[in-house]
Amino acid sequence: MNQHAPFEAFFAAIETALGAGAVNRSAETLLRYGENTMPGGDRRPAGVVYPASTADVQTIVRAANKHAVPLYPISTGHNIGLGSRSASTADQVIVDLGRRMNRILEYDERLGFAVVEPGVSYQAMYDELVRRGDKLMLDVTSGPPQGGMLGNALDKGAGYTPYFDHFGFACGMEIVLGNGEVLRTGDGSLDSKELVNWHTSKYSFGPILDGLFTQSNYGIVTRMGLWLLPRPPMTRTFHFAFLEDDDLDEIIELCRPLKMSNFVPTLFRLANDLYLCGSEGESPEYRANAGKKSISDEGRRALREKIGVGAWTVSGAFYGPSAAATEPQIQRVRDHFGRSGKARYISHEDAEPIPPLQVAINAFSGIPSLGELGLLKWRPGGGNLWFLPGTPMDGKIANEFQHICRRIYEDHGLDYSVMNVCSPRFARGLHVITFNREDADESRRADACYRKMSEAVTSRGVFVGRAPLDYHDFHMAQAMPAFRDACIAIKRALDPNGVIAPGRYGIT
Ligand SMILES: Cc1cc2nc3c(=O)[nH]c(=O)nc-3n(C[C@H](O)[C@H](O)[C@H](O)COP(=O)(O)OP(=O)(O)OC[C@H]3O[C@@H](n4cnc5c(N)ncnc54)[C@H](O)[C@@H]3O)c2cc1C
Repeated sequence: MNQHAPFEAFFAAIETALGAGAVNRSAETLLRYGENTMPGGDRRPAGVVYPASTADVQTIVRAANKHAVPLYPISTGHNIGLGSRSASTADQVIVDLGRRMNRILEYDERLGFAVVEPGVSYQAMYDELVRRGDKLMLDVTSGPPQGGMLGNALDKGAGYTPYFDHFGFACGMEIVLGNGEVLRTGDGSLDSKELVNWHTSKYSFGPILDGLFTQSNYGIVTRMGLWLLPRPPMTRTFHFAFLEDDDLDEIIELCRPLKMSNFVPTLFRLANDLYLCGSEGESPEYRANAGKKSISDEGRRALREKIGVGAWTVSGAFYGPSAAATEPQIQRVRDHFGRSGKARYISHEDAEPIPPLQVAINAFSGIPSLGELGLLKWRPGGGNLWFLPGTPMDGKIANEFQHICRRIYEDHGLDYSVMNVCSPRFARGLHVITFNREDADESRRADACYRKMSEAVTSRGVFVGRAPLDYHDFHMAQAMPAFRDACIAIKRALDPNGVIAPGRYGIT
């Protein structure tokens, strides 16, 4: 436990102002909040504080300024593979907003939005929508159902339905800045007690400040409006399995026109065999290879046959009043993919008993599910990193990137596992690095694999879209100097004493 004088004075001040229950410094708590899945090791915080209101957050930020104590805000703290609940460095104070600020503050069924505090999880919002008659649908991730809508949007997370862009479909925030002031964004910036359009109009007077609070450390967000989609009566998914790794080129070319015209309203989930099979148990070759080698091609083929997926499987969905009403659209997509002569069609009904395709069905239906978390058990020891570059929707380029990254995984004795999430012009490549964190050599290889892939794609002009905490400084060093300088200048303006999450996304 950190017992330096500033921390003692800070925690005493918080206990006096917010009550003893607002501070926890027990050894077990510090251990738990420091845990993560990255190779760089756990990061024990100095303590955890639990605000119950925006005013409490202001009290905490002002005390941090007075005592020069670094704070690290989390909402629900399920950022698995990207940092979990850990702070940028050990000995920051975790501000756990989710514990006591977990209310749905507003719900407007007619205008299709909700306003949430940081602790509202996907599962909690889903349960509430069902309780209210299932009229509106939220866009979920395929990650932990206990992850939160606000924290995910701030980390530029995404899902798969037409409302996939979680920051894009957020509207209006309240933020406690690093200097302790409260800022409202969008129409909320009007100096008035009555705010009619705060959570319905994204573009109001003046600069759009909301983006400053994504992947940064300029303030603590205490409230956010989020748009919700009217729940369609019927979701019908379709899936196509392809046999060869190099079919990726053609699949990307097939997906692009269907997305460019928005004929298919969802994003495409274009997953390789190990991304899908990897959630269904430990690698059958891990023990025999002592974790030192990638799974063999024969091993992959056997798994694909067992689970019922391809080297690549592409999934999407249509919405409509009934299954019959979506049939003509499904037929058109079947004809389109059928032209390749390589696609095996898997219908919605046939996909349901295939667990990783059921995850896709849930994601397109706005239902949180646990299935994909099985990926964390592909190798023992609980290590998990996400490497998140992207490719233009150009089959040739996407396939080149596949070759580059597959080779680097293999060179490091790890298993190439990726899902390309395809929009009209761009696909985010969700690369999972699963490794045995209890094996020092394997952890070192996972770290080296991440860095090597990043250098390889950077040399081809590709930046990542989100990054695990261990690599924030590494990626910031890849940015142009003017970008770095601008980030630092904004930090000085909004958080002059640098108390909010110093080091997060490489900004100090
Ligand atoms: C198998 C698996 C599948 C996944 N699938 C997806 C997916 O489909 N899409 C996706 O986006 N992610 C996915 N993830 C990643 C991750 O688990 C989710 O994004 C998760 O929702 C993020 O955690 P959270 O919502 O609890 O956010 P938090 O951990 O609470 O927040 C994330 C970060 O944002 C910052 N932050 C949080 N709250 C605040 C605040 N109030 N003010 C200022 N800064 C704040 C903090 O630095 C924090 O570390 C997946 C993970 C796994 C393991």
